[in-house]
Formats: sequence, C-alpha cells, structure tokens
Amino acid sequence: MAGGKKPSKRPAWDLKGQLCDLNAELKRCRERTQTLDQENQQLQDQLRDAQQHVKALGTERTTLEGHLAKVQAQAEQGQQELKNLRACVLELEERLSTQEGLVQELQKKQVELQEERRGLMSQLEEKERRLQTSEAALSSSQAEVASLRQETVAQAALLTEREERLHGLEMERRRLHNQLQELKGNIRVFCRVRPVLPGEPTPPPGLLLFPSGPGGPSDPPTRLSLSRSDERRGTLSGAPAPPTRHDFSFDRVFPPGSGQDEVFEEIAMLVQSALDGYPVCIFAYGQTGSSKTFTMEGGPGGDPQLEGLIPRALRHLFSVAQELSGQGWTYSFVASYVEIYNETVRDLLATGTRKGQGGECEIRRAGPGSEELTVTNARYVPVSCEKEVDALLHLARQNRAVARTAQNERSSRSHSVFQLQISGEHSSRGLQCGAPLSLVDLAGSERLDPGLALGPGERERLRETQAINSSLSTLGLVIMALSNKESHVPYRNSKLTYLLQNSLGGSAKMLMFVNISPLEENVSESLNSLRFASKVNQCVIGTAQANRE
Ligand code: ADP
Ligand code: MG
Repeated sequence: MAGGKKPSKRPAWDLKGQLCDLNAELKRCRERTQTLDQENQQLQDQLRDAQQHVKALGTERTTLEGHLAKVQAQAEQGQQELKNLRACVLELEERLSTQEGLVQELQKKQVELQEERRGLMSQLEEKERRLQTSEAALSSSQAEVASLRQETVAQAALLTEREERLHGLEMERRRLHNQLQELKGNIRVFCRVRPVLPGEPTPPPGLLLFPSGPGGPSDPPTRLSLSRSDERRGTLSGAPAPPTRHDFSFDRVFPPGSGQDEVFEEIAMLVQSALDGYPVCIFAYGQTGSSKTFTMEGGPGGDPQLEGLIPRALRHLFSVAQELSGQGWTYSFVASYVEIYNETVRDLLATGTRKGQGGECEIRRAGPGSEELTVTNARYVPVSCEKEVDALLHLARQNRAVARTAQNERSSRSHSVFQLQISGEHSSRGLQCGAPLSLVDLAGSERLDPGLALGPGERERLRETQAINSSLSTLGLVIMALSNKESHVPYRNSKLTYLLQNSLGGSAKMLMFVNISPLEENVSESLNSLRFASKVNQCVIGTAQANRE
C-alpha cells in the first residue's frame, strides 16, 4: 500500500486485490533496484576513488616511511649525541662542582686575606703612628742631649771649681781639727772606773766620788775623789782616823756604767787625726782586772754593744776614709799586733806552726836611714773592712790563749800593741799623708807584795814585775822628757817605748786611759794608778806637725 501504510491483510479470496498488491510490490522493487544500481554505481565510483586514494596513500606512506627511517636514524643519532652530551654535562657538572668548591675555598681565602690585610693595614698604621711618635721623641731627645751637653760642660767647670773649694775646705777642716785637738791637749788622760762585777763585795759608800764640774751635773765629769782610811794612822783617842780624801782631775772621767759607745765618742775625733797625718797613740793603764782589755778590745761573747776601742776605731777610720774617697783620697791600712813580755816581742798574729809561740821578733829600722820601725818576723796584714779586723782580734785571742796554758796569766803581765799603718794619697794633687795609730793594752801596773816569800815561782814573778815596772816607768819618763822638750828622750830604755818611738814624738797625739777598779781591796793600787796618770796629765807635748809631703 502506498504511503507506507501497511495494507491490511487481504482475504484469501481477493485474488485481484492480491494481484494488484503484488504489482505494486514489483513496481516498488524495480524502483528499488534502480536506486540500488544507482547507489552501487555511486559506491563503485567511490570505491574507485578510494582505491586511487589508497594507492596515493600507499605512495605517500612509502615516502613517509622513508622519511620516518631517516628521522629515526636522525633520532638515534640525536639520542647518541644526547647521551654524549649528558655525559659531557655530567662531567661538566662534576667539574663545575669542583670549581665551585674551589671558588668557595678561594672566596674563603679571599675573605681571610682581606681580614689579614685589614689587620696588617691597621698594624702598619699603628707602626707608622709609633714611628712618628718615635721620630718626634728622637728629635726632642736630640735637642735635650744637645742642651744636656752644654749643661754638662758648664757643670764640669762648676765641679772643678767646687772640687777646688772642697779640697780647700778639707785642708782647712784638718787644720781646725788639729787646732781643736791641740786645744784639748796633745796628751790627754781619761779615767775609767769599771763597775763592780757580780760576786764582788760592794764597796763602802763614798769610796769613789765623782764631783760635778763647774758647769754642774750636765757637764761631763772630769773629777774623781778617792777616800782611803789608813789603819796605820790612829788618833790619840784610839778612834779610827777619818779617811783621807784624794782629789784628782783629768780631761774626762768615766764613772762605772759608762758604755763603750760613750767612751769611744770622746776619742773618735782623736782617732781621725791619724787619717789627717798625725800619729795617735792610745794607752790603757791600770792594775790587772781594772778593765784595760775590756776598754781596748771589748767584752766577752762578741756583743756589739761591748765592742772595744780597737774595732770601733777601725770601723770609724774605714768609714771616714770612704767619705774622703769622694774627694779623691785613697787610704790603705796595714795592721800588726804584738805582745811585749819580759822585754821580748812576740807576734800575736802568727799562724801555722808559729802560732802560740810566735818566735822571737826584733824591732828594727825599716831600712838604712829610715825613721820607720818594723818588727821582724811579725805579720803586717792589710785590712779594709771590719770583718778582717775581727778575724785578727780573734787570732790574737787564740794566740794569747795558747800562751796562757804555758805560762799562767801571761797576757796580764805583757803589753799588747795593736798598730795600724795608715797611708793616704791624693794622686791627682800629688799629696800624701799617713800616720800610725797605736792602741796599747799595757801590762798590769800592780806592785809585787813586798811581804811575799821568794820561792822559785815568785822569783820569776819578781823578774816579770821588774820588767813591767821598768817599762811603765820608762813610758812615764819618755812622756816627761817629751813634755820638757829634753834633748834626750830615753825611748831605747824599753822595748815598748822603742816600738812606739814614732807614735810619741813631737807631732803625735797621746791619750791615756787610767783604768780603776771600784773595789775597796784595790784602793792602794787605784791610788798609785791615779798618781801616775796625774803626772802624765801635767805633761804637754809640743805643737803637732802633720806627717805630710
Ligand atoms: P784587765 O785587762 O785590766 O786585766 P779586764 O778588761 O780583763 O781587765 O776586765 C776584768 C773583768 O771585768 C773582765 O771579766 C771584764 O769583762 C769585766 N769588765 C771590765 N769592765 C767592764 C764593764 N765596763 N762592764 C762589764 N764588765 C766589765
Ligand atoms: Mg787585760
């Protein structure tokens, strides 16, 4: 049925209708075939076109495949190259990192170097600054040196002038010093009374008195009174006679308790005269036990407070000589120490095998026509300090101790003579001066008891005593003769005065210590000593002349 409408099924009987339908159907099929043919034609055309197209495409494919192969080859090559390049890149990267490390290191170093440079720069600046300061200081110093040079020249001139004046003053001082010593007397006598020692009986009051001088108690004492009751003189009524008073006056009196320093103070100036060229001689006179050795050498035990005149005098001389060295004076000192016993001379400084015995010594002139005396076989020891003097005094004590065992208490029966030869020189002025200083610890002045029985020991004792008495009275006679300006002075009458000949003459200064015991039992000896000393005290030695050239 046309129009697409499905004709409803025709009943079996309708053959015409069915034939009509079939015709329509055929018609439609013919039409359809026609369309299909057309379509087929079209499709065949299309197929032909497509085949042509495929052919063209195949050609193109071949071409493209060729291309592709080429491209693939190229790609492979590229990949190879890429691989190479990658390796290269890796290597380069490695190198780069190494380089970077290096660079970092270098940068660090650079930083360090920069820092160092900065430090060096600042150092350099500092140095430059310092250099500038130094240069400034140098130039100012140079200026100063120049001005100092000028000043030095001026001062040198001033110094010579001052030295000249100082020398003049020193000579003037010596002259005045000597004048003062002369006013005090070229012979002086000091009396020293030792204290009562532990264990000794207390003397009766008034036995020894020390009246004060015209200036009152503030004046140093110069007077001494000794009272003696004489049992032989009795009064008519039988009562004991009043004690007799004996008055003495000396240049100075030292009561018991006077210290060694106090005593030395009085004689320091006198000792100094020896440096100026005046011979000085100091004696200690008195009975045994009256403190002669204590006064000269000192007390026992090396107590500096108890040091005697010898160590004190030498210390003083050394120190004054040291002061004078500043004015161009050079002093040298030579010490000797001998003992005169029974008119024989013995060296107290002997050492070695001669120690203690000391061989026989003789007093001789130093040379033909020489005034100077020396003791043969005796040691003359140069001394320049206290220690050396102490050693000599120690040696002398040892020598005496050895002798003492051989002969009882010989030291108190002999004179000990310590002598110091002093020589001073002022080389630039060609001046010389020097004089001996003698410090003499005399033998005990006591007399022998006339009532004593004369056994062999006593006879020896008598001989000793006579020798002592003779030499002590010779000393008195020599002083007297000098004082009276007699033409003959009996120096040669004893070894002691002979040895001291050059220390007692006209230009010499002499000091005698009369040492007194405070005990009642010694009154008689004390009186003898004081009388002897009084006689000496009345002597005056002519004006001293310094030993100068
Ligand atoms: P000398 O030498 O006259 O025989 P010493 O100098 O040996 O007498 O003295 C006798 C004793 O008296 C010694 O033991 C000494 O130490 C002592 N002596 C002397 N003077 C004093 C004093 N001022 N102070 C203390 N003791 C003294
Ligand atoms: Mg003595």
